[in-house]
Amino acid sequence: MSPVIPIRTTTPESGCADAPVIRERGQREVFCGLTGIIWLHRKIQDAFFLVVGSRTCAHLIQSAAGVMIFAEPRFATAIIDERDLAGLADVNVELDHVVTRLLERRPDIRLLFLVGSCPSEVIKLDLSRAAARLSGSFSPKVRVLNYSGSGIETTFTQGEDACLASLVPSLPQEDTNAEPSLLVVGALADVVEDQFMRLFTQMGLGSVRFLPPRHASALPAVGPNTRFLLAQPFLADTARALEERGATRIAAPFPLGAEGTTLWLQAAAKTFGIEQRCFEQVTNAARERAISALARSRAQLAGKRIFFFPDSQLEVPLARFLSRELGMILVEVGTPYLHRQHLAEELALLPAGTTLSEGQHVENQLDRCRAAQPDIVVCGLGLANPLEAEGMTTKWAIELVFTPIHGYDQAADLAELFTRPLIRRMKLVA
Ligand code: SF4
Repeated sequence: MSPVIPIRTTTPESGCADAPVIRERGQREVFCGLTGIIWLHRKIQDAFFLVVGSRTCAHLIQSAAGVMIFAEPRFATAIIDERDLAGLADVNVELDHVVTRLLERRPDIRLLFLVGSCPSEVIKLDLSRAAARLSGSFSPKVRVLNYSGSGIETTFTQGEDACLASLVPSLPQEDTNAEPSLLVVGALADVVEDQFMRLFTQMGLGSVRFLPPRHASALPAVGPNTRFLLAQPFLADTARALEERGATRIAAPFPLGAEGTTLWLQAAAKTFGIEQRCFEQVTNAARERAISALARSRAQLAGKRIFFFPDSQLEVPLARFLSRELGMILVEVGTPYLHRQHLAEELALLPAGTTLSEGQHVENQLDRCRAAQPDIVVCGLGLANPLEAEGMTTKWAIELVFTPIHGYDQAADLAELFTRPLIRRMKLVA
C-alpha cells in the first residue's frame, strides 16, 4: 500500500521557518534572465521576444533554444555593437527600423517584448521609452513592452519574473462588482494548466485565469477581487505588481509533488469557500495515483544525500518534496534569493536543522560540497561537468525549469529526474 501523506496546515514555528541562513556574496555561476525566453516564447503563442543585446546574447539564446531552421522563430536578437556607442539616437532609429521590418514580415505578432541585456551599450539605451514609442506606433494591433533579461540580476528565472511584471500594468481592470476570481501566476506547461483547470472546475471554481495567458488577446483582468496563487517561487516582482493593482496573494506551498500540489490546491479551495469534502472528492484519486507512482522512486532515493547549489530559485520547494515525499537527506539547500514571505509555507515544511544558504560564493560552496560528498548535486551547467569529473553525480537545475514538473500527474516524472542520474552513475561504476 502506498504511504499516506497527511494533508496538514503548517505553523510558523515548525520546520525551518526561523532557521538561520548562510548569506553569501561572491562569484556566481548562473545563466542570465534571457534564458526565460526559451519557455516563455512557447507559452504566449502570439508574442515575440526581441533581445536588444550583443553577439554573446545572440549565441546564448540560439544555443539554449536550438537553431530553428524550419519554424518561424518567436525570438531574435538585435545586435548592438561598439560602433553604435558613437550616437545613441541612431540606435533608436535602427531599433525602430528593425521592429517595423519584423512586424511587417510577421503579422501574427500581437505582443512584442524588447528584452534588455547587460552589455554597457544596451544599458545606456532607454528601452522603456523605446517600447512606449513603438507601442504608440503599432497599437492597438501590437502592444510593445520591455523588460530586462540581464545577467546582472540574481539568476535566470528572474527573466520570467521581469517579463510577467512588465505585463501586469497592461492587464485589463476587473469589474468592481465581479465575483472573486482566481489567477494562477507563473508559466506552466499547457498540459499542466489543463489538469489544474479541470480540478478547479470540478471543485466549482468558476472564474480561473492564468498569467501568462496563451494569447495576448486573453490577458486576464485584475483588481481588488482577484486572488492570485503563485505557481512558481521566483515571481517576487510580479506578485508586487499584482498587489499594487489590488490583488491578494493566496499563501501556499508550491505545487510540486503530491503533498505540495494538494496544499496548493487546498489553499485556493479554502479561499473560495470550497467544502473539504468536495475538495477531497475532486483531488483524492489524482493524489493517490501520484503517491503510488512515487513509490518506485522513493525506494531508490530514500536515504540519499542531496546538495543544492543556488541556481533556479526552485530549490526550497524541490528540497521539501525530495525530503518529505522521497526520504532524501538535505545536506545543503542553496538558493540565489530566499523570499521569506513567499516561501514561508515551504520553509515550515523543511526538516528542522536543514542548512540553508542564500546567494552564491561558488568557491565556498564547492568546498562545502566536496567536504560533504553528497550522493547527488543539483547545480548549473557550468558546475556540472567539473563535478562529474570529480566523481560526483549531478542534476542540471535548468532542466527542472524546462520540464513539466508541477501537479499530481507530473510528480513521478519529477522524482525520476533525480533517480536517472543516480542510476546512470551506478551503471558507470559497475
Ligand atoms: S544578457 Fe549579459 S549575461 Fe546574458 S548573454 Fe547577454 S551579455 Fe551574456
